[in-house]
Amino acid sequence: MIEFEHTGFTYDGETFVLRDIGLSIPQGQFVCILGGNGSGKSTLAKHINALLVPDEGTVTILGHDTRDETATYLIRSNAGMVFQNPDDQLVASLIENDVAFGPENLGVPTDKLRERVTLSLDEVGLQGFEKHETNALSGGQKQRVAIAGVLAMNPRILILDEASAMLDPRGRRGLMRVCKELNERGMTIVMITHFMEEAGLADRVVVLDGGTIALDGTPDEVLVQTEKLDHLNLDVPFACELSRELQKRGVPVSTHVDDQSLEEELCQ
Ligand code: ADP
Repeated sequence: MIEFEHTGFTYDGETFVLRDIGLSIPQGQFVCILGGNGSGKSTLAKHINALLVPDEGTVTILGHDTRDETATYLIRSNAGMVFQNPDDQLVASLIENDVAFGPENLGVPTDKLRERVTLSLDEVGLQGFEKHETNALSGGQKQRVAIAGVLAMNPRILILDEASAMLDPRGRRGLMRVCKELNERGMTIVMITHFMEEAGLADRVVVLDGGTIALDGTPDEVLVQTEKLDHLNLDVPFACELSRELQKRGVPVSTHVDDQSLEEELCQ
C-alpha cells in the first residue's frame, strides 16, 4: 500500500536528502521511523501523502504513483498527517467545528458530518468533547483532536510527524494508546518519533541515516543494535541497554513489548 522504489529526493536540485529508498509498507502495519536530526524522516513522511514527490525512482500509495496529479486528492484524503505542534493544527475554537473542517472540505453532507465528528472523537478517547473549546485542552488532548480531524476524513493511513515531541509523558502515552487502537482496527500507522520507547510498540522500526535506510526490522531486531544506534546519536532506551548486557551474559531476552501488563502501563 506504501511503496518506495529507488526513491531519491533533493530540495535544491543538488543534494539528495533521500537516496535510493526501498520501502514497502503493507496495509495495517505500524511502522516507527527513527533517525537523527536531518536524516530525512519528515521528507520521507511528506512523500507518503504526496506533499513532496520524488526526483528519482517512484513512490506508490494505494496503487497510485504520487506524481500522477489526478491521484493527489485520493492520496491526500487517504493518508492523513499529524504534525509536531498541536497549536498549529487546530483551525476552529470549538472542537466539533475543528474536527468537521476536513470532511466539510471534502464535501461530506451536513447530516453525516456530526456523525463523523462524534465517531472520530470516540476513537481518540474524547467522547462528548464536541462543545469544548480547543484552547482549553492539554497538548495531548489537542493532538488527539488533530487526529480526530484526520480520522473524520476516513483515511487508511495515519502519518504522525513527531506528533508526540511536545507532549508530556502522559500525553505521549495517550497518543500511543490511540495509535495502537487505530492500528488494531486495521489502520496503517507511520510514526516518526524521537522516543525510542515508542518504537518498541511498533510492528516495525526503520532507522534513517543521511537519507538512506540504515536499519529495518522488528523492534526485537533493531533496538538491540545499540552500537549502531549510539553511533547515530539515538538514545538507546535503558531496557535495551539492559537487554544487551543480559544477552552478553547468555540470558535470552526480548525487547519487543508483548508483555500485556507492560504494554498497558505504557499505554495508559
Ligand atoms: P528530519 O525529519 O530527519 O530531521 P528532514 O527531512 O526535515 O529531516 O530534513 C532532511 C534534510 O533536508 C536536512 O538536511 C534538511 O536541512 C533539509 N531540508 C528539510 N526541509 C527543507 C526545505 N524545505 N528546503 C531545503 N532543505 C530542507
